[in-house]
Amino acid sequence: MPAQQHLDNTPVTAIKGVGPQVAQKLERLGLFTVQDLLFHLPYRYQDRTRLTPLGALQLHSDVLIEGEIRASQIVFGRRRSLVCRLQDNTGTVTLRFFHFGAAQKNQLVAGTRLRCFGETRRGASGLELYHPEYTVIDTATDNKLALEANLTPVYPATEGIQQQRLRNIITQALNLLNDNNLSDLLRNLPLPQHFPESFKLRETLAYLHRPPLNAPLHQLAAGEHPLQQRLAFEELLAHHLSLLKSRQQLKQQNAPALPLNSSKQNALLENLPFALTGAQQRVAAEIAEDIAQPHPMLRLVQGDVGSGKTVVAALAAVQAIANGKQVALMAPTEILAEQHYNNFRQWLEPLDIQVGWLTGSLKVKERREQLQATADGRNQIIIGTHALFQDGVDYCDLGLVIIDEQHRFGVQQRYALTAKAQQNQQPHQLIMTATPIPRTLAMSFYADLDSSVIDELPPGRTPVNTVLIENGRRDQVIERVRAACLERKQAYWVCTLIEESEELQCEAAESSAQMLAEALPGISIGLVHGRLKAKDKAMVMDAFKAGNIDLLVATTVIEVGVDVPNASLMIIENPERLGLSQLHQLRGRIGRGSLESHCVLLYSTPLSKDSKERLAVMRETSDGFIIAEKDLQLRGPGEVLGTRQTGDIQFHIADLQRDAHLLNDIKSAAAHLQQQPQQIQALIDRWLGINEQYAKV
Ligand code: ADP
Ligand code: MG
Repeated sequence: MPAQQHLDNTPVTAIKGVGPQVAQKLERLGLFTVQDLLFHLPYRYQDRTRLTPLGALQLHSDVLIEGEIRASQIVFGRRRSLVCRLQDNTGTVTLRFFHFGAAQKNQLVAGTRLRCFGETRRGASGLELYHPEYTVIDTATDNKLALEANLTPVYPATEGIQQQRLRNIITQALNLLNDNNLSDLLRNLPLPQHFPESFKLRETLAYLHRPPLNAPLHQLAAGEHPLQQRLAFEELLAHHLSLLKSRQQLKQQNAPALPLNSSKQNALLENLPFALTGAQQRVAAEIAEDIAQPHPMLRLVQGDVGSGKTVVAALAAVQAIANGKQVALMAPTEILAEQHYNNFRQWLEPLDIQVGWLTGSLKVKERREQLQATADGRNQIIIGTHALFQDGVDYCDLGLVIIDEQHRFGVQQRYALTAKAQQNQQPHQLIMTATPIPRTLAMSFYADLDSSVIDELPPGRTPVNTVLIENGRRDQVIERVRAACLERKQAYWVCTLIEESEELQCEAAESSAQMLAEALPGISIGLVHGRLKAKDKAMVMDAFKAGNIDLLVATTVIEVGVDVPNASLMIIENPERLGLSQLHQLRGRIGRGSLESHCVLLYSTPLSKDSKERLAVMRETSDGFIIAEKDLQLRGPGEVLGTRQTGDIQFHIADLQRDAHLLNDIKSAAAHLQQQPQQIQALIDRWLGINEQYAKV
C-alpha cells in the first residue's frame, strides 16, 4: 500500500484552489489542516432539493422558488429599493433589493425567469424575499436547472470567504477522505449504549456535511441525530482530556509547601465566638493537608449560603502566612470584599497579621500606599475585587489565592491572579462557591478538580419560610414589613429588572425606596445599588448592620455574602426574572440568626408555566444542590455557572445542556485512554486545535 498522508497533518493548501491567501482566511476560522476542514461542521442546513410553488409559500421559511418577473420597479419608500414581482402558475411573491447595481437593474426586468433561494418575510407588499440568492434561467435554450441532491450545509463563515466557496473547499476535503487517512479516535472505547454500532467516521462526516434528501432535518437542526451525538461525545471527551492534561501539568509544577502551624490557627479559633462545625473542621483539614504539599492545590469548596466558608478560608490564610507567604482573597463585589476585609481584620489583626485592601474605588494616595505595602510584603493578606489582578499590582511572595463566589469570575480572571505569583512557582488555589455545581458540569468545567463540601449549617439556624404573593397584594406585603420593623426586626426589599442595564436597576430601586418611604412613615429606610460610591454603600451597609436602618432597599448587589443576622424578612420584587440560584443566594441573606425568617416572592401576573415551576421550587426546598440541579434542567449551564465561565469554552457541535446525558460515559472513556498519550493528544488537536491553550483549569 502506498504511504498515505494523514489528513490531520495535511495543510489546507493541499486542496485545489486554496493558495496562501485563502489559507490565511481559513486560519481565521481556526482551519489549518484538511482534518480541520472536515470537522468544520455545518451549523444548519437548507433544503434546496425541491421547488416550492409560489402559491404555497409560508412566512419565515427558507425556500427555493422559480418564476418569471412580471414587473420590476424602483420604489422610494423609507429606503430606496428595487422591487420585482415574481410569478409562477400558482401565485406571486415580491423580491426586494436595497442594494443593487445598474447591471442588476437591467437584468431583473419583466420577462426574465429566475430561480431564487431566500427566506420569506412580511414586507410592504405582503410576502417578500429580501436579497435572495438567484440564478437567471436561460429561456432561449430552455435548459432546466438541476436541483440539489443533498441538503445544503451552512457553515460558520468569515469575512472574505463565501458559503459557496467554503462548500467547494469542504467537498474537496471530503473527496480526499478515505477509510485509512483519518483515525477513528473512539475505536475500542466504551461508548454510550444507544450509539450506532456501524459508525464509521468517514460516513459520519459525509452524512453531516451533505445529508441526503430524506435526512431528518428537524433532528439535525436540533443536533440530536445519532451521528451528531457521536461527534458531540468525541468533542466533550476531547475537552475533558484537555482539562485533565492541563490539570496534570499544573500538579507537576512547584508550589511552596506550607505546613500546618497549629499555634497560629489555635489562636484564631480561640478568638472566635463559636466552634467550627464538623463539616468545617473536615474541609479545613483537607485544605491544610493540600497546601502542605510542594505542588499547587486546586480545591473547590462548595457550601450552601451561610455554611461558614469564610472562616475556613481564614484558617488556610493563616497557615500560608505563618509560613511567610502572602495571600490574596478576591471577591466579586465591593460590598462582599469589604465584609471580608472587616472580618479578616477582626480575626487576624490580633494575631499581628497585616490585612491589605485593594479595590477599584480607592483614592489615588490610598491606592499607592496599598500597592506599596503589597509589593514590599508588609501586607500579608490582600483582600479586594478584580483590582487584585490588574496591571501594576505586584505581590511580594504570593503563596495562596482564595477566590470567593467563583461563579462570578471567568477562568481567565482567576488565571490572571495566579499569574501574579513568583516565577517558577504556582500559588495554591482555594475556590469557594455557594452555587453548587452539578456533578456533570463540574466534570466538564473543572475536570473533577478536588472538591470539598461543607454540608452542614452552623447550629441555631432557622429555615426560611418562603411564600409566593402576587403583586396585586403589594399593600399587604408593605403592612407586613411595617409590622416586622415595629418589632425591631430588619428587612430587605430587593428590586430586580430584566434589563442588564445597571442604570435602570438603580432607578427602579430608587423609585421603590421612595414609594416605600411614603407608605412607611417612621420606618428608617436605606438604599444600596451599584451606582453608589463604595464609601456611601459601606455607610448604608454599616448602618443596616448596626440596626440604625430598619428596611434596606437594594438591587441584587446584595446577592452574595452580605451578613446581617438580625434581618429576618426579605421581599423580592419580580422574582420570576431571576434564576433559581440567584434567588437562593438572595434568600440566603436571611435566616442567619435565631429569628424565624420569611421570604416573600412578590411576583407579577401572569406567570408563565416555566416561572411557576421555578418559583414553586423555591417554596419547596432550601437545599442549594437541588436548586442548582433544577436550574440546570430549566435554564442550562450558562445560567447556572454564569455565562462568563461557559463563555470560556466554545464547542463546535456539543451543547452542554442538550448533551449532558453523554457526560456520564466520558469519564470511563477517558480512563480507558490513560495509557495512550498519543491518542489523547490526537483528540485534543482535532477538537481544540490552537484553542488548546485556552482550556485552563
Ligand atoms: P458563607 O458560607 O455563606 O460564606 P459565612 O462564612 O459568611 O457563610 O458565614 C455565615 C455566618 O455564620 C457568619 O456570621 C459566620 O461568622 C457564622 N459562622 C460561621 N461558622 C459558624 C459556626 N461554626 N457556628 C456559628 N456561626 C458560624
Ligand atoms: Mg461567603
